[in-house]
Amino acid sequence: MISNAFSHLIGHMHRLLKPIDETCLACGKTGSFTRELPGICRACYRNIPWIMKPKCWRCGRGIGCPDCIRPGLNHRSFILNRSAVTYDTQMREWLAQYKYRGNERYAPLLIEMMLRAYTLLHREANIHLDYKGSRKSSNMPWSVHAVTSVPVSGERLQERGFNQAEVLAQGLALRIKVPYVQMLERRRHTDKQSFKSRMDRLKDMEGVFGALQDGPDMLLSISNQAAEQTRSQMGASLFKGPFRILLIDDIYTTGSTINACAQVLRRCEPLMEMPVEIYSLTWARS
Ligand SMILES: [Zn+2]
Ligand SMILES: [Zn+2]
Repeated sequence: MISNAFSHLIGHMHRLLKPIDETCLACGKTGSFTRELPGICRACYRNIPWIMKPKCWRCGRGIGCPDCIRPGLNHRSFILNRSAVTYDTQMREWLAQYKYRGNERYAPLLIEMMLRAYTLLHREANIHLDYKGSRKSSNMPWSVHAVTSVPVSGERLQERGFNQAEVLAQGLALRIKVPYVQMLERRRHTDKQSFKSRMDRLKDMEGVFGALQDGPDMLLSISNQAAEQTRSQMGASLFKGPFRILLIDDIYTTGSTINACAQVLRRCEPLMEMPVEIYSLTWARS
């Protein structure tokens, strides 16, 4: 028995110490690999432009942000956005490989990167429970209750064969043990947003997203479960929210897509009879 356990342990240690020789997903070189993230070499890992401390509280930008201090933006329907990385040329290439060339090997890598961003957001949120614009919920630790994603149109889905944001959201939801709910549908296409004026973008987003028919009911059942947990863990009598939804997309550019989705999600408030807060988590911030 003992020798069996011992050889198992040695085998395990051996695996841990053994240098992994694989081909790097990103640069194609064989060499020294990192255990921090799946599929990429140390050199590529070192070049990742992580956003560790966002300069802009609202949109999670790593550099100074003139956008979010403009008047009118306080009416956005989401609390904040956080992104794992800055969208530089290397990250652009990774996303292109995953999204447009359908290289599925990128999915686990991007999901792990999202998990890091989520961990930072979780830590940050638990330090500053009184986020501007968010409602304090007694002394409950900050947590999200459901994960959902920005939908693509049926046309895009056919083209790509998958919804890149949904795959990331489902993977992250599994890792953080929060239910994934498909809540939204995209009712029509929009042209590229980044070249348009703010007013045009807002106008463009009207009616693009809608709620799926059974989405709100699914949220309601999750909130009932949350209420049950609150009762058993905290002895609190009633879960009054806020009900927090983590909205996932691959990239945050102007925030107009996230905002349009958040607007639709917040329409669940009357049904849920509690405030619904939307937190956006995106893989990259452009
Ligand atoms: Zn590499
Ligand atoms: Zn900003």
